Amino acid sequence: MEAVEDIVIVGAGIAGLTTALGLHRLGIRSLVLESFDGLRTTGFAFTTWTNAWRALDAVGIGESLRPRHNQLFGVQTVSTISRISTAERQFNATGKRLSICPKPNQTGPIRYSSKVVSIEESSHLKLVHLADGSILKAKVLIGCDRVNSAVAKWLGFRKPAFVGRSAIRGCVYYDHGHSFEPKLLQFFGEGVRFGFIPCDDKTIYWFFTFSSSSKNGEMEDSPDKMKQFVLGKLGEIPDNVRAIIQKTELDNFTLSPLRFRPPWEILRGNISKNNVCVAGDAFHPMTPDLGQGGCPALEDGIVLARCLGKALRDNQSIKSEEEYKRIEMGLQRYAKERRWRAFELISTAYMVGYIQQSNGKVLTFLRDRVLASFLAGKLLKMASFDCGKLSAS
Ligand SMILES: Cc1cc2nc3c(=O)[nH]c(=O)nc-3n(C[C@H](O)[C@H](O)[C@H](O)COP(=O)(O)OP(=O)(O)OC[C@H]3O[C@@H](n4cnc5c(N)ncnc54)[C@H](O)[C@@H]3O)c2cc1C
Repeated sequence: MEAVEDIVIVGAGIAGLTTALGLHRLGIRSLVLESFDGLRTTGFAFTTWTNAWRALDAVGIGESLRPRHNQLFGVQTVSTISRISTAERQFNATGKRLSICPKPNQTGPIRYSSKVVSIEESSHLKLVHLADGSILKAKVLIGCDRVNSAVAKWLGFRKPAFVGRSAIRGCVYYDHGHSFEPKLLQFFGEGVRFGFIPCDDKTIYWFFTFSSSSKNGEMEDSPDKMKQFVLGKLGEIPDNVRAIIQKTELDNFTLSPLRFRPPWEILRGNISKNNVCVAGDAFHPMTPDLGQGGCPALEDGIVLARCLGKALRDNQSIKSEEEYKRIEMGLQRYAKERRWRAFELISTAYMVGYIQQSNGKVLTFLRDRVLASFLAGKLLKMASFDCGKLSAS
């Protein structure tokens, strides 16, 4: 017999765990389905901007995470063409790897090795089909299953579009420490954009984006070719910065095409429908040019838990027709609250990347002399968002 669950969250990533933890704080149980066989850390670093810390505080884990993170104090932007330092801003953001990893008893159960493959409708319930052939019945279904989301597909969203750019990323470790200040150092030049973020005294994370087709040919399987490509495109930069790439071990190079959900799809699409919605990358995949992505996934979790909390205020389980109506309205409220924020983030990230990476003469001139400070300001404005408290009152 198929089990019936009240709230099923697909994906134990940033959005899924924040939502589950937020619901748990409000006394509401959920079940998280995760395709992998356990929680894991991937990637090199995670920049947590002010908006992310506000969300982490709202869900009650900011204080315990703060001491484990290094603070960055500013951003400096340099043109590799004019060699002008085009913008410098101070800020209070923190960097380093972030793992939310609440314990399962804080979030409700997490069911591992549970890959959702399709969704079916059965009256008010959603039938969630798993890869192992089992089926769960859900009264509320939340898709936090990243870019190729099965839930987003059910809601009618298309696959995220390739933006004509790719990213090579890496991380380098200095046994005896590096000498870089704790600030984001970013460069742009002829069709490329790259940056360096000290994670702590010994580790530096870097990224390099460039115009490309969705396939990067031989480079895809060859870190050595990636390294030569990046080194050949750095232009006029200080030797100690170039040395960061030179020192990066080949095992620490990754390459990925950049994709986003076109902003007009966010305006027109179904972020929620009946008792189903999406959050995180399943909702708003964006280019990495603001260093956001995961931060608004945290915001989503807070807003979603708050909206569901209001809908289920007096009753922790969903039984009546009226409760279904309230859930539907709660998810609509969530969609309304997040639509413009997601639209703004995706469009701003795309615009920042487009301008910073362009190599036309006019745009290069404008970027180096006029727009750089404006773009740095945009980055900080997006990071200053406050998703509010969790409380449903
Ligand atoms: C190299 C790199 C660097 C980044 N740096 C930053 C940064 O510094 N700051 C920042 O804010 N953002 C950053 N991002 C973006 C950020 O990682 C994502 O935006 C964020 O992880 C999205 O959270 P999520 O919960 O939507 O998805 P994820 O964290 O990817 O979690 C999705 C989860 O769903 C599971 N899943 C997927 N499909 C299914 C399925 N069908 N069934 C069951 N489970 C499923 C996955 O296994 C995964 O555990 C970076 C991204 C990359 C690639």
